[in-house]
Amino acid sequence: MAVLPILITGDPVLHGRASEVTEFDQRLDTLVADMFETMAAAPGVGLAAPQVGQPLRLFVYNWTDDDGVLWRGVAINPELWISPPPTGDADVDEESEGCLSIPGERFPLRRADLAILRGVGLDRTPFEIRAEGWLARIFQHEYDHLDGILYADRLAAPHAKASLRAIRKNGWGEPGGSWMPGVDDLDA
Ligand code: ZN
Repeated sequence: MAVLPILITGDPVLHGRASEVTEFDQRLDTLVADMFETMAAAPGVGLAAPQVGQPLRLFVYNWTDDDGVLWRGVAINPELWISPPPTGDADVDEESEGCLSIPGERFPLRRADLAILRGVGLDRTPFEIRAEGWLARIFQHEYDHLDGILYADRLAAPHAKASLRAIRKNGWGEPGGSWMPGVDDLDA
């Protein structure tokens, strides 16, 4: 297994639609194992394949809820159903989100409270997870990556402007930018 460099916003792989996974082979097993290791090293609660330069429809997640339940897995060729997102302004304390491809930054964003994720695992066994709260947020965030959407693309004003300023200030927004978990210090 290996920790992989994580692409930073501006690289075309992050901003285009990823392709369905068709080959369930050793290469896919290795990619998923490397993604789990990279997510742990970052650290993060989710990581999508485009973030490590692979334009494929899969993501991994690892998050422990308030009841101490560990939610950990891989979603390959997922589908996502969400409840209507609540209206109004996002709460800075309760709804601020981050992304390993916009490292060290956080901005508040409204998300649906409920999400139903369907996909298959590495053994192609279908699964369905009914997620609420932060797990639903993680699934929405990671699923968006597969369609080339970063959470910064969904921010309401004035957070959208603030995120663009942060991206400019960090010198991001160009193709080929990346950082290495465990090597680069990108703490906010
Ligand atoms: Zn992200």
